[in-house]
Amino acid sequence: MTDMTDSNPGDIELIRDDIDRIDSDILKLLAERKAHSLRIAREKGIRDRPSRDQQREEGLIADRIAAGMDHDLDSGLVNRVWREIVNDSVRIQQEVLGRSEAPGRAATVAIQGIEGSYSQLASQQYFDSKGTTVSYHRAQTFADAVAAVQHGDAELAVLPIENTTSGAISEVYDLLLNSRLHFVGDVRFRVRHCLLGIEGATIADLRRVYCHPQAVAQCSEFLADLEDCEIVYFSDTALSGRKIREMGDPSIAAIASEEAARLFGLDVLQNGIANRDENYTRFVVVAPEPATVPDGVPSKTSIVMSVGNHPGALMEALALFHDADINLVMLESRPIPHNPREELFYLDFDGNITDPGVQLVVESLTRQVRFLKVLGSYPSRDLRPKPIERKVKKVMPEGRSELTQLTPSTTSPSGYKLGSRGHKQQNTIVEVAGVKIGGDDLVMIAGPCAVESWDQVMAAAKVVKESGGALLRGGCFKPRTSPYSFQGLGYEGLEMLVEAGKAFGLPIVTEVVSPQDVEGIARKADVLQIGTRNMQNFSLLSAVGRAHRPVMLKRGMSSSLDEWLQAAEYILSEGNQQVFLCERGIRTFETSTRNTLDLSAVPVLRQRTHLPVIVDPSHAAGNRDLVAPLALAAQAIGAHGVMVEIHPEPETALSDGPQSLRFDQYTDLMAALGFGG
Ligand code: PEP
Ligand code: MN
Repeated sequence: MTDMTDSNPGDIELIRDDIDRIDSDILKLLAERKAHSLRIAREKGIRDRPSRDQQREEGLIADRIAAGMDHDLDSGLVNRVWREIVNDSVRIQQEVLGRSEAPGRAATVAIQGIEGSYSQLASQQYFDSKGTTVSYHRAQTFADAVAAVQHGDAELAVLPIENTTSGAISEVYDLLLNSRLHFVGDVRFRVRHCLLGIEGATIADLRRVYCHPQAVAQCSEFLADLEDCEIVYFSDTALSGRKIREMGDPSIAAIASEEAARLFGLDVLQNGIANRDENYTRFVVVAPEPATVPDGVPSKTSIVMSVGNHPGALMEALALFHDADINLVMLESRPIPHNPREELFYLDFDGNITDPGVQLVVESLTRQVRFLKVLGSYPSRDLRPKPIERKVKKVMPEGRSELTQLTPSTTSPSGYKLGSRGHKQQNTIVEVAGVKIGGDDLVMIAGPCAVESWDQVMAAAKVVKESGGALLRGGCFKPRTSPYSFQGLGYEGLEMLVEAGKAFGLPIVTEVVSPQDVEGIARKADVLQIGTRNMQNFSLLSAVGRAHRPVMLKRGMSSSLDEWLQAAEYILSEGNQQVFLCERGIRTFETSTRNTLDLSAVPVLRQRTHLPVIVDPSHAAGNRDLVAPLALAAQAIGAHGVMVEIHPEPETALSDGPQSLRFDQYTDLMAALGFGG
């Protein structure tokens, strides 16, 4: 250190230089100290030791205060400075230990692209800061990278999700929605696109440029200025660099990173060619299990939701964040493929899913949105540390249990929660293309047991519409007790049902029997039916829970009401809040009817759940002459809807003919229920 007494007191500039140098040394030392902290975190990770040792922290600060006194430094100053330093160390260590990738071991990370790709550079930036050694699983497409994690070939994937110039990377959003992966981290990576060519290439002589569509979007202004130059789309930025190297033609260039230029021995013809100099891509880190972020580590939570179609639906959802004083940092909307009536909203906000304030908001959201999925909480580098205690301005109804990933950490004795009256007092109204199930009006659903032919389903649709029915039903995938019985017309039948529904303006209900078919059927059907034989097919329930269509859950023929509500919980806890129940008769000792219609289920369920309840007298009775009195009884006891089977010629029906109403019986029933007239 410069001896102050020897310096010229008038030469302030020189002294300032000294101070600058000292500050720079302090920064270097702090960085060095941080690197040691990370090494300790890794050791703690291996030995499974806790990240905090309060006694050691206090002892260390006391030592520094004492040492500071020897240098004539104020004890208050040393105390404050070292507390900050120690807190930062703890934060760094907790961030590392809180990750789903354990420090001190190598993680296999799936990325799209070869070495030198932006995904790899961003991954490097992210995992270097965590002190994690990485081996890469290189995938050709984003979908392959996601699949690698789902199949266990990689522990994590790093995927670009948003760019400051070109916006959301919708393919990745859509992929992640359908995957069951959780967000466990994110990283903002500065993308510096360069125009690369082989030796001797010049911009003026270029005739072709290979580039990734994202790079084209981000460098559109530069590319527009290139004359007589063809843009060739390419799947991967780094790969385009390798390709032009192989072609060895100086009239062909690529857009990639400077690192790619180094890797493939290319010249940088121009640096920084993006429309905006500040060009950042946000990458998300995803894993099969959610990350647990320790309290006190600044974190961010990502969710995806769909709200109803009524005016103000989105505002009402967002108001919950405002009322709880939670800062929203990102809102992105995506259309739902094949479902143009609905829109998905992706939200990022400050806070951890374990924060009581965040839990209250997420819980409140489940009461008012149609779909809600927590994608994950993860440490956020962009945030300043903030107090753990959050202020919740508007206090929600009391006595709520905690909620993480839409699954209560304290389960009620009944085994369900999101479906319970305790969770939501107001009746849920399931809206199907404008039809409201769960309101004051009785909703009639009718149609054939199975779609058998074009003529059959069109004739049924016509009578349903003319008599005041609201929805058209028809089975295409039939879960038959015997493998030799008619199994339904499958997707061909679904096409007929869709056309009949369209012809008469009726939304359609059809059964789904296997998880693989949920996506395909959800593209076409307005309501997904889960039949009695599948009420406890949990992978099927989870699959419809991830779909963006209302679900009609029929009661298992031997299930109690609580088992039924727990089955509904499987759907709700996956995100889909648009569920209604259908009582269809249970097995008892009585053989006079096919099943015994448990009408008392209706008022009991209305006490226990906010979900709408409808009644299917056809499958309960098994005999068409009993359907009308049971339907009237269902209406009288307060069911929100009735579903019946009808057929133009029940004698020739391929399934459930004996219980199917003839058209005239059906129109009489509708009149008796008070429709038309
Ligand atoms: C049906 O509705 O056609 C059906 C098969 O019902 P369940 O699952 O109640 O037998
Ligand atoms: Mn049937």
